[in-house]
Amino acid sequence: MLDVTIRDVDVPALGLGTWRLTGEDCRRAVETALELGYRHLDTAQAYGNEREVGDALAASEADREAVFVTTKLDNGNRSYDDVLRSTEESLARLGTRYVDLLLIHNPFQREPVEETLRAMDELVDEGKVREIGVSNFDVERLHEAREAADHELLADQVQFNPYWDQSSLLDYCEIHDLLLTAYSPLGHGGMLSDPVLAEVGERHGKSPAQVAIRWCLQHPNVSVIPKATSREHIAANREVFDFELSDEEMERIRRPSRTRALSGAIRSRLPI
Ligand code: NAP
Repeated sequence: MLDVTIRDVDVPALGLGTWRLTGEDCRRAVETALELGYRHLDTAQAYGNEREVGDALAASEADREAVFVTTKLDNGNRSYDDVLRSTEESLARLGTRYVDLLLIHNPFQREPVEETLRAMDELVDEGKVREIGVSNFDVERLHEAREAADHELLADQVQFNPYWDQSSLLDYCEIHDLLLTAYSPLGHGGMLSDPVLAEVGERHGKSPAQVAIRWCLQHPNVSVIPKATSREHIAANREVFDFELSDEEMERIRRPSRTRALSGAIRSRLPI
């Protein structure tokens, strides 16, 4: 699998998202992903599954150093003391001495972002966190966070898919050599019945999900973390490095619309 290289840090371009994966389903999905060659895992304190992710990592034959593990600070854990304490707890649950990337999960917080970042900087100095970053930050907030941190931020994890415009953030990340990690690349499943993805996919012998993932990956500085539970989906989502979308296809697929994004996500949750 390919890497995205940001300031000498190699981040596997494809990772496994784990939001809403818990218990045995989570452990099995992560184990399957590692077995199939995934080397990038995304979890969060708020997902309640760090222990299962850690168990799968421990059971896997993959070398810990070769796996890029991201976790995120819960919204209630952003004071200086809570960042230090809760990260220690995350490390214990994950069964690892360090995480590759620690993110502030959301921009809105009582505590000044400077306070949270001061503790995150300290965790980097202590070797408990390799890289720091943010999630759901727009360009302005990302810029402020970068100014406030001693260590360079590596990434902003945001929603990015053909229905969700991130052009300003993409430009900013390219200029400043930051990673944009694309979450919900399948719109929580809402893009799977998209007719344009289906039509383009047919041309390449690929599914709508594979086309959506590929579309994200063809943007500079982007890594992508689709969530999948079944072996079939986890395996299918890694088959995105053997075809290329043309410029015309990239443009046709891109149709930003909050309405489309929301209705797709809601439709995907309705009982069949
Ligand atoms: P997503 O990856 O856009 O979509 C997941 C859905 O697509 C699931 O229902 C999954 O089904 C289905 N799916 C996956 N691969 C498929 C395939 N090949 N064919 C058909 N269906 C397929 O949704 P997401 O969970 O919202 O986003 C991905 C990850 O991003 C999360 O898990 C999380 O790690 C991260 N995230 C971060 C934030 C944040 O605030 N930072 C917010 C949202 C998400 P099955 O599960 O049944 O396989």
